[in-house]
Amino acid sequence: MSDYVRRLPVYIVLDCSESMAGPAIADAQRGVLDMIDALRGDPMAIETIYVSLITFSSYAKQVVPLTEVLAFQMPRLTIRSGTALGSALQLVKQCISKEVRQRGGEFKADYKPIVILLTDGEPTDNWEPAAQDIRRGSSVGIANIYGIAVGEDADPWVLKQVTDIVLQMKEMNSETWRKLFIWLTQSMQSTSTHLQSGGEGQELNLPSLPDELEVAAPSARHQGPPRQVFLHAWCQKRNLPYLMRFRRDEYGGTYQAFASHPLQPEELEGSMGEASSINTSQLMGVPECPHCHAPGAGACECGAILCVSPNQMRFVCPRCHQQCEMGGGGGGFDVRQSQG
Ligand SMILES: [Zn+2]
Ligand SMILES: [Zn+2]
Repeated sequence: MSDYVRRLPVYIVLDCSESMAGPAIADAQRGVLDMIDALRGDPMAIETIYVSLITFSSYAKQVVPLTEVLAFQMPRLTIRSGTALGSALQLVKQCISKEVRQRGGEFKADYKPIVILLTDGEPTDNWEPAAQDIRRGSSVGIANIYGIAVGEDADPWVLKQVTDIVLQMKEMNSETWRKLFIWLTQSMQSTSTHLQSGGEGQELNLPSLPDELEVAAPSARHQGPPRQVFLHAWCQKRNLPYLMRFRRDEYGGTYQAFASHPLQPEELEGSMGEASSINTSQLMGVPECPHCHAPGAGACECGAILCVSPNQMRFVCPRCHQQCEMGGGGGGFDVRQSQG
């Protein structure tokens, strides 16, 4: 079957950095699954739409190669420190040149691929050359790229260096994620209908945007200190890692604790590479341990951050196994940050 139809390749390029930890990654995972389900119920989409999933954090990886929707299997998404947007853009370009059929082969050429690039953070790699490269390519027909900036910490300016089509979803919750993926699904369906009815090269009207999505307004590049601080900590009781998040208070210049998320040990891999440090006097409050709900935190001499229960004076560090005493408080000290 696939030898005779013209396929519409869709590359979903999803930010899986630490800023996506917790509900956001679960909502995105569900969104992709719902999208695939909806496409499976659409005979025209089953014939034409092929989907690939690329994730990026400290590195980019094609977790699902270009696959027909009936055979698509959703992997469990994991998060990692880092937002390697440049690597993701390079990888999507490589995947397109490998997987998308060009004119002149033994098969019918595929339609121009759609790339859906979702990010909620600030890139941590040297992404600008890759952005310029893919932008030059998309103008001569490599792909139609939709940049989607999710959450208030995403910088739409970055996505505008990649593509002219940049949408913004400021609020991140289960309902906004659901609506975003419904809109993306409908857009793919209308694109496939448009192409199959001979509309290639002609103007296509996408479905109207839900209220939660808007065309990103022109904006300057985000400058200044990062908007969030990410720290890795360990639960003493369960010997499991977790992520602490602090959000910048624009007036005070400090960072307020606002969330913590459990991590899997493998989600820490490669996270210590380019970490910088921050003084604890800049951090306000402590997010509770998501494993045992201890409300406090302490640091071991080895640099590990640990959850601490009230009135606890002594603990054994789950990282270096040293017996430690709680410090007498007062005075900040430096702790190592994750890239987020
Ligand atoms: Zn704990
Ligand atoms: Zn230690």
